Amino acid sequence: MRRTAFRLAFCTLLSVMLTWRVASQQFNYHDQHSWEGSCNTGSRQSPISFTHVGDAPMPGHYEIDLSGDCELTPTADVIVAPNLHQVVVTDPAMKCNIKHPVTGAAYTVQQLHFHLPSEHVLRDGPGDAELHIVTANNANPDLKMVVGIVYRGGDDSQHPIAAALLSNVFRSAAKQTALPRRYGLLESMPQKAGGYVYEGSLTTPPCSEVVSWVVFSEAVVILSKVVSDMKRVMNVKIGTPRNNRDLQRVRSEHQVQFIPSAEVFSVNRYLAQITVRKILIVIVGTFVFGAIILLLWHHHDENKACLEAGNTEELAPLTEASGNAGQAGYGTAAPV
Ligand SMILES: [Zn+2]
Repeated sequence: MRRTAFRLAFCTLLSVMLTWRVASQQFNYHDQHSWEGSCNTGSRQSPISFTHVGDAPMPGHYEIDLSGDCELTPTADVIVAPNLHQVVVTDPAMKCNIKHPVTGAAYTVQQLHFHLPSEHVLRDGPGDAELHIVTANNANPDLKMVVGIVYRGGDDSQHPIAAALLSNVFRSAAKQTALPRRYGLLESMPQKAGGYVYEGSLTTPPCSEVVSWVVFSEAVVILSKVVSDMKRVMNVKIGTPRNNRDLQRVRSEHQVQFIPSAEVFSVNRYLAQITVRKILIVIVGTFVFGAIILLLWHHHDENKACLEAGNTEELAPLTEASGNAGQAGYGTAAPV
């Protein structure tokens, strides 16, 4: 009896310890002062507001240079990660390289995730949501570059591709189904926007200061209904009305720089590559289709010729036979 009681007490203690350990690995957006790591001690924490950042453009020419396969495919893994309070998208089939617009350092896309409401605050205010494209430095994967895109709900979607991407990602997350089609990363970005570049941190514990941020300076307007759907999935699946970190104080260590729209994020080259690829696919497809049609036509002609030849050969004996029959009809008896 005493041994059973001891076992019960031991198991209860173990269970409490395990529960405490799992809980300690999670974090709470309503109690951000308790976050560990560099969250409360760092000198260049993220996110920040750009409302008071000067908009004097940096001299020179800058662009985000994408290369490789930068499309999300239906094989992408779309999950609601409760411990991270996020919808996270990873796609092993996507091999997308992005160069930092200022340093030119090469990074590879690792995952995408969303924050509601937005974490960064643009000059015209916060957004309803923010997409973070997380990349790792090719030379040192511990160093990250995160591309941030802020979305705002409106009556009319200015960017149907971005709205479709967000809508389908959240639908897939809620229903645990695959994405219905491929989505080009760059095609879902703002096409004519400037950007802020600064040195910051992860916006979740341990808030490591290893992130080079590139944040588009203008929000993408999507349908309010899409925002509502996103909020519903986040609330239902995660049980929290928000998953954005509080704004952090802007310091000189952030080295915030503004790049004007005409020069940054010049997506035309990559879009031109996609267009050329699509045109090539259409040309090759047309050629293959034409070749098949020609082959079938040729085959049809041959069959027709064969049939006609066959008919002629079959008719010939008949003619002879009719001739003979005629002759036979008129002749009463064949000569012996
Ligand atoms: Zn994030």
